[in-house]
Amino acid sequence: MNFASDNTAGVAPEIMAALARANDGFALGYGNDDWTRRVEKKFSELFKRDVAVFLVPTGTAANALALAHVTPPWGAVICHEDAHIAVDECGAPEFFGGGIKLVALPGANGKLDAAAVKPLLGNKAQWGPPHHVTPAALSISQASEAGTIYRPQEIRELADIAHAHDVALHMDGARFGNALVRMNVSADEATWKAGVDVLSFGATKGGAMGAEAVIFFDPKRAEHMSARRKRGAQLASKHRFIAAQMEAYLDGDLWLRLCRHANDMADRLSAGLSKAGFAPKWPVEANEVFVPLPAALCDKLQAAGAMFYRWDADAAGNVVVRLVTSFATTAAEVERFVDLVRDA
Ligand SMILES: *Cc1c(COP(=O)(O)O)cnc(C)c1O
Repeated sequence: MNFASDNTAGVAPEIMAALARANDGFALGYGNDDWTRRVEKKFSELFKRDVAVFLVPTGTAANALALAHVTPPWGAVICHEDAHIAVDECGAPEFFGGGIKLVALPGANGKLDAAAVKPLLGNKAQWGPPHHVTPAALSISQASEAGTIYRPQEIRELADIAHAHDVALHMDGARFGNALVRMNVSADEATWKAGVDVLSFGATKGGAMGAEAVIFFDPKRAEHMSARRKRGAQLASKHRFIAAQMEAYLDGDLWLRLCRHANDMADRLSAGLSKAGFAPKWPVEANEVFVPLPAALCDKLQAAGAMFYRWDADAAGNVVVRLVTSFATTAAEVERFVDLVRDA
């Protein structure tokens, strides 16, 4: 019953097998290999246009380098106050961006609201030289840190506001696959067709060992990114092993199958807990369930071996726990957890 995070799971067997195959023999380093060429091609097919792809080992690197690339050092990145870039990356976007400023906004269900972003970007007195930073990027997380998702129409609305102010739209897609299978739209419809300029495409939480990609939908925008990645110490020497993971993740839509399973397990968890009288705090739209539970019940669950993080507390004094499912979560684990809650 390990619901601590999707990175507590191992590596999907198909991806491990691809790593073993890539281990057979020699290949040039730093991305001068066949795996990398194939992954670049695969991404262009997936998104139905020519994209520029930069593989990196962590999601923090993907976010930080992507944002640094579209933001001058005197620029600002607008994001949700709970965004991974704002609270979980130890200042990496600011560091790689040469001191860029993150401007965080509250927003219901872990999402940025167009109604809040519009007046913020429109308030000219707040922005611009010589005294103020200049907004350069708007960053949204798909799925969000609350496990909720942005529909294409919501993305389009935010993109239009951003673009009207010459601001790029960045998507932190650490759980992009989970969001995509929920919406049942194609990858292009959920990104550039809705106005996304640059995407951090995550594979690690979906089932890879450590593989993420920065995707520029306009390859012209990627100029000098190759230098930025190396200067940022994020160009892997044995690059083929990141590429082999990504290739296997995308191959035959493995990623969508893995993410669909994780979402299904979250739905099961959510339904079971709701039935037991504990409804999730936010809509369950990806592979995360946030549910308020009495502290004594949390103690019991953890004593019985369940693993999860205590996220927050609610006004009634309950602990809001975060339960994350993955490709490796089994229905039996979910049932056991729900049974424990019910019996308690
Ligand atoms: C996990 C995660 C990342 C990437 O984190 P790394 O630990 O750096 O790989 C980025 N964004 C979100 C929303 C995440 O949950």
